[in-house]
Amino acid sequence: MKLSARLQVIAEELLLGCRMADIGSDHALLPVYAVKNGKASYAVAGEVNDGPLEAAQRQVAEAGEHRRISVRKGDGLAVISPGEVDTITIAGMGGALIVSILSGGRDKLEGVKRLVLQPNVGEEFVRQWLVENGWYLEKEQILEEDGKIYEVLTAIADPGADALNERLYQNKVMDGGIVVSKPWLLKIGPRFILNPSSTLLKKWQGEIAKLENICRQVALSDQEASRERESELRQEIEQLKEVLACWQKDRP
Ligand code: SAM
Repeated sequence: MKLSARLQVIAEELLLGCRMADIGSDHALLPVYAVKNGKASYAVAGEVNDGPLEAAQRQVAEAGEHRRISVRKGDGLAVISPGEVDTITIAGMGGALIVSILSGGRDKLEGVKRLVLQPNVGEEFVRQWLVENGWYLEKEQILEEDGKIYEVLTAIADPGADALNERLYQNKVMDGGIVVSKPWLLKIGPRFILNPSSTLLKKWQGEIAKLENICRQVALSDQEASRERESELRQEIEQLKEVLACWQKDRP
């Protein structure tokens, strides 16, 4: 079984033999791959919608893995019991939805040591939730597949998370002397910022283009509130361009 590059990156983040829950599993490709390859000893595939739930049930039956993979219907973490799994994956949804799933099931996070999260958008909401809920962002990865850019965030439960996060989100001084503060680190990624790949650069070039487009639309309005919004957007674009200029400085 071959996973997409995106799901493969997520699968690589599972610790050997973990007990995992994949929430919003759809076709259950990740849990099936994980148990077949020894990455997980047991998996729950959770789905809230009937179509994807049936796809997951079919996939698990075809793989002959119904003993090791339990396919369950339910909203977010409602499908698991406290202490049942040590790892949770949530992929292919917006960051705000991932946060609402995690917040809605706080009691189910007992015994969970590792979260592997892949928000399609709104990564900063996920980083913010991790900071506020005692999770330490151990690793950030970015990849491009079929013209789309994805971020994969791995977080661990750590009793010292608050102190570690304090350090992780301290102001960062970039090579060009630009100071990047916590709100920007939450947006861009505290680990990415000092270690930019060409994919990260491409992502933020695209984000700047989107913001410039919005700015042009807002500039057409006569409303006072639009002037304020335009000025905020211009500041945001300027800050991002400064960061990008630092990233590009040492590139061939
Ligand atoms: N995780 C798979 C992946 O990354 O390839 C599937 C991603 S698919 C785009 C998102 C899935 O999440 C859908 O199948 C949807 O039904 C499911 N979903 C959305 N909200 C959910 C929730 N609150 N609880 C469980 N599943 C949910």
